[in-house]
Parts: sequence; structure tokens; C-alpha cells
Amino acid sequence: MQALVNKIYLDHKDSISEGDKASYIPALANIPDNLGLAVRDHSSIYTAGDTTFRFTFQSLSKIILLLVALEDNSTDYIFNHVGMESSGDSFNSISKLDFTNIIKPYNPFINAGAILIASLIKGSNYTEKLKKIMVLCEKIFERNDIGFNDEIYLSERNSAYRNRALAYLLKEKDILEGDVEEILDLYFKCCSIEVNCVDLANLGYFLSFNKNSIIKDNHLRIVKALMLTCGMYDYSGEFAVKIGLPSKSGVSGGIVTCVPQRMGIGVFSPRLDSKGNSILGIRCIEELNVALDLNIFR
Ligand code: GLU
Repeated sequence: MQALVNKIYLDHKDSISEGDKASYIPALANIPDNLGLAVRDHSSIYTAGDTTFRFTFQSLSKIILLLVALEDNSTDYIFNHVGMESSGDSFNSISKLDFTNIIKPYNPFINAGAILIASLIKGSNYTEKLKKIMVLCEKIFERNDIGFNDEIYLSERNSAYRNRALAYLLKEKDILEGDVEEILDLYFKCCSIEVNCVDLANLGYFLSFNKNSIIKDNHLRIVKALMLTCGMYDYSGEFAVKIGLPSKSGVSGGIVTCVPQRMGIGVFSPRLDSKGNSILGIRCIEELNVALDLNIFR
């Protein structure tokens, strides 16, 4: 496995300047070009490239938010507030949310859905809610030094016009309850959690095996189903057809992939394709998939 991981890294490392970095959060444009790949299976963690480089969690945090919210509420309650269908639109689209017949965001992995999910996390105050999220991250990443990137957090908070518009529209439609700015802040803070490729491989591995049974199995099944159908932005359908693995992408260039009962994969490279997915991230997962026949539909 280590030889394969090394080969995949070497096959792609010279393409790290292909594509563009996300820049709608200004500080994301400053992330250095980079490639890191980590695979965790039963026996070990295999890494290649810069797997210690810390980047921000961004949309991958939507997995953690959903897990915490599912543990805090009944499944029916969650899905009375947010749908289970892919939207077919970009992750931060506002257009369909304003249709009169829309009573909830399409799914928990688009921004409107994740902001709503953040509002369903229980706790007597903001600090308590954030703490729950961090504790789950500590257990999954197997480290207790979870930190935040303040520059990216502030950059997002100060430029989040579209996310604010989504949240206030949800509030205006009586879908979102609570203090909008506080809910948004919890969402931005989670997007700014610093992770590396090994953390992502641990997350993928956790989703595959539910290590220590810390989350109900049914909740993991829900998350993996949504990763398969909605995890890769509006490329999710094509990714499911071509690769067939529950995965989640983030605008900072991370992708987490879960191979049920086999392994977790974490890959990071900050330059993105037109759908917002890491270009080299997808190529590395494609290559692993072909080499190891990972597709869950095989
Ligand atoms: N913080 C980002 C946003 O809300 C996350 C988006 C993403 O990674 O897809 O726009």
C-alpha cells in the first residue's frame, strides 16, 4: 500500500499549479500549492507528500455538524428541517431557496442546509455547542490539540455576504430559529478548524468502521448516503457513477473518502476545478480506486 500511495503522489505532484484556488473567502487564495495523500486501513496509515500541512476544514465540517445534530435530535426532526436530495445547484446557491414551495434546504451539505443543521445542535450557549463539535473532532482525529485558523475565520466572517443572505432568508421564511449571527458564527468557526490529510484519513476510517461506537450506526449510514449523493458539489452524480465512493469535498482543497469496511482516504491540494473540487484530490482518488477496486458498487 505504501508503494502505491508513493506512486500516486509522484504521478501528480508536478501538476500542483493546475486550476485555481477558491478566492471568494479572500484568505483562501493565499494557501500554498501543495499535495498530500493519506490512507488508513486496519493495519496502518500510509502517507505521501505534505500530510502535516494544516488547512481549514471548510465544507468537510458539515459532516461533523450533521453527526452532532443527529445525535442531539431525532432523525425525523432533522429531516423535517432539511431535505435529503441533491440540489443540482452550486453549494451556496440562493435561487431555489426563495421559491414559495420550498420549506427547507435541499440537503445538509449545501450551505443553507449546513447553517440550518448548525442551528439544531443543542447546548445552553455558543461555547457549549462549539465544545461538542471539538470533542467529536478530537475523538475522530485522535488528537486533543484541535485549533482554528483565525485569519481564515475572520476573512470568511467579514466577507460572508452570501451565507448571511441564505441564513436571513431561512429566518425570514421561519425555517431557521435562534440568533442568526450566532448560528453563522458557529458555522464559520467550524469551517476554520485546522486539519491535515491524516485527520481526513482518520475521518474516512471512522465513517467506515465507527471506531469505539461513539456515533449510532444509523447516523453514520445517513451521513455516508448523503456523501455519496451530495458530497462532491454538483459533480456528486458523476463522481458516484465514475468512482462510487462516499466522499466530501471542501473549498480549501480537502477531500475525505470512505471505503466502507475497508479504509479512509484523505487528500489535500488547494487548486479546484470549475465545480469546486480539488483537481489533484479527485485524480488521486481515481487512481487509488482503479488500483484497489474500491467502488462500492463493484
Ligand atoms: N466556509 C465555506 C462557505 O461557507 C465552506 C464551503 C465549502 O467548503 O464548500 O462558503
